[in-house]
Amino acid sequence: MSLKIITKRCKGCGICAAFCPKKVLAVSEVGKVEAVAEENCIKCGQCEMRCPDYAIFVDK
Ligand code: SF4
Ligand code: SF4
Repeated sequence: MSLKIITKRCKGCGICAAFCPKKVLAVSEVGKVEAVAEENCIKCGQCEMRCPDYAIFVDK
């Protein structure tokens, strides 16, 4: 897994999902973001850069 989501910090705002160019991320029913298509991740780092709560990180 190259994506690390710190669920405790995630408030489910969906900003990371909105900026992901590959539609890798989605907010779940319980209001936390999850990787729904991690195989499509290009490690661009947008999600990490845009998250206001430092809840998602990409291993580059
Ligand atoms: S690194 Fe880029 S492609 Fe991968 S989940 Fe984050 S925004 Fe999407
Ligand atoms: S931007 Fe951060 S807080 Fe918002 S859904 Fe994504 S990981 Fe969670």
